[in-house]
Amino acid sequence: MRIVNGLHHITAIAGPAQENLDFYAGVLGMRLVKKSVNQDDPGTYHLFYADAEGHPGTDLTFFPWAHLAPSRLGHGLATEVALEVPPGNLDYWRSRLQKYGTSLQPIETRFGDPVLPLVDPHGLKVALVESSPPREFTPWDGSPIPPERQIRGLYGAQLWERDVETTVAFLTGALGFTRLGDEHGWTRYGFPHAAGIVDIREVPIGARGAWGVGSVHHLAWRVDDDEHQHAVRKQVVTAGGHATEVIDRFWFKSVYFKEPGGVLLEIATEGPGFATDEDPAHLGETLVLPPWLEPYRAQIQNQLPALQTSRGAPSPLADTLAP
Ligand code: ZN
Repeated sequence: MRIVNGLHHITAIAGPAQENLDFYAGVLGMRLVKKSVNQDDPGTYHLFYADAEGHPGTDLTFFPWAHLAPSRLGHGLATEVALEVPPGNLDYWRSRLQKYGTSLQPIETRFGDPVLPLVDPHGLKVALVESSPPREFTPWDGSPIPPERQIRGLYGAQLWERDVETTVAFLTGALGFTRLGDEHGWTRYGFPHAAGIVDIREVPIGARGAWGVGSVHHLAWRVDDDEHQHAVRKQVVTAGGHATEVIDRFWFKSVYFKEPGGVLLEIATEGPGFATDEDPAHLGETLVLPPWLEPYRAQIQNQLPALQTSRGAPSPLADTLAP
């Protein structure tokens, strides 16, 4: 049995790209490490936010499909993304987010960790979790957030499932997840030595969830290299998963499949990484296209909305609402 190395990245669907950028780079202070396009829909951006170096496991990415309807909550979906912050920082984050008018819930405790649930400008549920599992992280000195308070990377996601048992059999059998605990109707699965958990809740009645603005699109799990990916892909197929062939995403190689409940998953190689085609000092500043789309650069750029990548956070409410 080959086990995946925790989370690689999470991809979600956003509304207008500039608002997405203003929130994740300007308010949350993550670094835009890659500005590219959806390789299956090159008229749409693909924006990648991560730590300064774009380490696997720090990367939250978005397709800004502003024309889609809002997502519909229901089973078969990842319903929340959790990001990790260092212990002792949620009060700082709460007051910062209040200043920008972010929709917040009270701080709560989940599996012993303080958690601040919030909703991003396009309806995506996000949670900031105080935790400190070992992980690779490089602070970004261009962030508006002090290095010791910056988001460290992906913590995990919540899943709603109609039938937990079949999903769990797949996650443990094909990817090597381990059960970590139960609390308030949620069961946590993850890895003893890698960052990235899923909290699963059984929602036996009600409709299937649907993708839309504000939903998670897929969760990607790390594999070392081509050989590890091949082995895990085989386990996925043996467990009944319909896995794609390996797709070269240029910064990593990907295989996609759905777990039995319907959540789209990916296994992605650690490398070669985001610095393979850009100077690490200038990640995300220019539109990067995979080689096969390069001949169409002019047309693609004309279709995409202009993005101001270095304007920082939108004005805090205190300024805009001041008498
Ligand atoms: Zn992906």
